[in-house]
Amino acid sequence: MPITIYREYDVDYSVLAGKRVAIVGYGNQGHAHALNLRDSGHCEVVIGARDNSPSGDAARQAGFTVLPVAEAATSDIVMLLAPDEAQPAIYADHIRDAMKPGAALGFAHGFAVHYGLIEPRADIDVIMAAPLGPGKGLRAEYVARRGLPALLAVAQDASGSAKGLALAYAGGIGAGRAAILETTFKDETETDLFGEQAVLCGGMPALIVAAFETLVEAGYPPELAYIVCLHETKLITDLLQKGGIAAMNLAISNTAEFGGNAVGKRLVTPDTKAEMARVLAEVRDGRFTEDFIADARAGNPALQADRARQADHPIEAAGARVRGLMPWLKEE
Ligand code: NDP
Ligand code: MG
Repeated sequence: MPITIYREYDVDYSVLAGKRVAIVGYGNQGHAHALNLRDSGHCEVVIGARDNSPSGDAARQAGFTVLPVAEAATSDIVMLLAPDEAQPAIYADHIRDAMKPGAALGFAHGFAVHYGLIEPRADIDVIMAAPLGPGKGLRAEYVARRGLPALLAVAQDASGSAKGLALAYAGGIGAGRAAILETTFKDETETDLFGEQAVLCGGMPALIVAAFETLVEAGYPPELAYIVCLHETKLITDLLQKGGIAAMNLAISNTAEFGGNAVGKRLVTPDTKAEMARVLAEVRDGRFTEDFIADARAGNPALQADRARQADHPIEAAGARVRGLMPWLKEE
């Protein structure tokens, strides 16, 4: 079934008139949501921050009213943009009892709600507006009078008008200038986690490291191994993003295309795909989330151990030397 797409002309901003939106967490996403919404001018925007919050100070510097989270949570829309693993405690301690009946609780990722880490009160709307990219890009596109596309979803419609509100919010951060794609908390959460695990942050880095090790163990210089296995991935992912696999094949040499076709299927075998299915199953049944939350509650021992192991890997030293030759990389 094709996805439903909304654009600027589908958005009715009058539903935001006279309303106050609280952005809880002025971080990567939060600062961009707040600035874009304020510039769009359809509603009042305040920031919710904890005591002595560095990002709360930044929000004040940017001219926002900054309130304790429980006070901000009395707004008409409460957008929870703190880290996913921090959201359940923030909701339980500062938001749940403060929200007005009929108000809306918003997210930029379905994680906490989909896995039941937050069980929203029955008398509020629960909506999602998830930009397809980091906050920096969301703000930069908006300032350039364009927009970043966003996913929209409604998990709970207590007011009967949650979708219109979610659309107006997504439009207010600029997404209507690009596209607002309708999905569900379940689909957004499960596909997002699977994509980052199988490809973006799991499969791809692991492939890079294994190939780097293969070259270095065979006696090639680590700098060369770094360049061909890691540095050059950007050329390819740019081609993939612009025009898909077909466009990549047009842009690369026949040698690269022939070799890539032959070897890709030797590396990613039916066994790999079977493992991917198990990974997806663990995302869907909540086993991954259980592991992640248990680690976070224990102070992230597994995450820290992996960080330490990765920092010691020779690919990091080789990378530092190669990147030192390319000072323009620092500017990005
Ligand atoms: P960040 O890590 O940037 O959030 C940091 C902000 O959360 C800071 O303002 C911080 O305040 C605040 N915060 C942290 N803990 C608490 C707490 N206990 N109480 C109050 N405030 C707290 O988060 P992101 O912007 O990366 O992610 C926010 C949401 O957006 C997540 O659901 C994420 O999945 C989603 N998302 C993120 C994207 C991204 O590219 N990063 C893309 C799309 C969606 P302080 O200064 O006090 O520490
Ligand atoms: Mg993600």
